[in-house]
Amino acid sequence: MEALIIVDMQRDFMPGGALPVPDGDKIIPTIEELIEKFKKKGALIVATRDWHPPNHISFKEQGGPWPKHCVQNTEGAEIVVKLPQNAIIISKADKPDKEAYSGFEGTNLAGILKEKDVKKVYICGVATEYCVKATALDALKHGFDVYIIRDAVKGIKPEDEEKALKELEENGAKIISSAEL
Ligand SMILES: [Zn+2]
Repeated sequence: MEALIIVDMQRDFMPGGALPVPDGDKIIPTIEELIEKFKKKGALIVATRDWHPPNHISFKEQGGPWPKHCVQNTEGAEIVVKLPQNAIIISKADKPDKEAYSGFEGTNLAGILKEKDVKKVYICGVATEYCVKATALDALKHGFDVYIIRDAVKGIKPEDEEKALKELEENGAKIISSAEL
């Protein structure tokens, strides 16, 4: 079984949002095409989301590094790609005192994937050098074959993005393009 993992495609991470990834919205059509392709294959579609309480530890007001973003049940936290009804939504960093860049951290994602006998995970979304990277590294640690879809991820800074992709490759992830799928 294969899974498409869509990382943090939320309004606050898009241009105009609270913590925007430049051109983050440009990958929406590519991701929606991928969703259709994976749906046809009968693959599992997973979407992770930041799901922070209003007093989350990562916010500047609490001494954290980030402006307030992706607060639970607000517009900023909404997922901006069209998901199939049976998509699995993984909410992360949903407690005030816990940060999580990875979709595996503090969630049951690994258990869900293993239960469905998933072997290969294909990762897309934002931001490449933060939550995409952390999610991919954890997927590798859990023993999955990991593919990063290069034209369906977006980073905040191009040089950091390239560094992250290199690190992922060194750790065993394969960088592919959506045209190969
Ligand atoms: Zn966050």
